Amino acid sequence: MEHQELNTTTLTRTATCNKHGEYEEVQKECYGPGKDEFGDYTVVKFLKWTGHCAECVAEIVRREEEHKAKMERHKLHERIRASGIPGGFLEESLDSYIADNPGQQKALSVARDYVANFGEHVYSGRNLLFTGKPGCGKTHLAVAIGMALMKMGASVRWTTASDMTRRFTDTWGRREGENETQVLADLTGADLLILDEAGVQSGSEVELRTIFNVIDGRYREKLPTLVASNLSIKNLTPYVGERVIDRLRDNGSELVAFDWESYRGKKGARNTSAPRPFMSSAGHAVAAGKPK
Ligand SMILES: [Zn+2]
Repeated sequence: MEHQELNTTTLTRTATCNKHGEYEEVQKECYGPGKDEFGDYTVVKFLKWTGHCAECVAEIVRREEEHKAKMERHKLHERIRASGIPGGFLEESLDSYIADNPGQQKALSVARDYVANFGEHVYSGRNLLFTGKPGCGKTHLAVAIGMALMKMGASVRWTTASDMTRRFTDTWGRREGENETQVLADLTGADLLILDEAGVQSGSEVELRTIFNVIDGRYREKLPTLVASNLSIKNLTPYVGERVIDRLRDNGSELVAFDWESYRGKKGARNTSAPRPFMSSAGHAVAAGKPK
């Protein structure tokens, strides 16, 4: 047991700090281990000159805070790197989402609410489903949610349905690197999985099985998934399977339909300074090669 300093100042005196010169040193009442009148160990009260120069203490606190902030930045950087969010998307935020029409305002408010109450969603497995036309900002909002959550300390994985399938098939017959079990654990274990471009895939048996394994794994753990798709739920069903849709719609999931005029042109016109991902003709985002 270490001795414990109480906040009662008993005496003060002038002392000298090697670095900061004269300062007022205080004597404090302390409790700590000691011997009683019979020589038995007990807790005794004593007085102690603290030797704390206020400026030295402030310097220590400042250094500790700087170190903590640096570690936090490092951890956030690691989380972002592990998330798989393409570099060109990393600037997306809830604040940069333009919400002019009621549909956009609703989508933004759902996104903000989702972040604010993520502590509940993460344990109830409450999914978010973004469906609707391309260019209405589904990826922007999905990534913005992911970034906001990572800043709060959550782990996030972002993938497209086709990339996810490829990550599994790439492990087949491979001796080095991650194996299929590790890929599954990574995708099912994150606090939030963002499955983008669902429906932009072949609907092959391998894909159906991959998506089912991941969504079912998360469903069992009651961990939420954010699915973004250009297709309606009805049209998405053949691409992901009915059992996946059932699981995604369970646990009080929220569906947001992005059904207004395209957003991409507008956003580009208003916000030309920020790096934008290049959109290929097929609607696939290509990372803009932003300097890290
Ligand atoms: Zn000092």
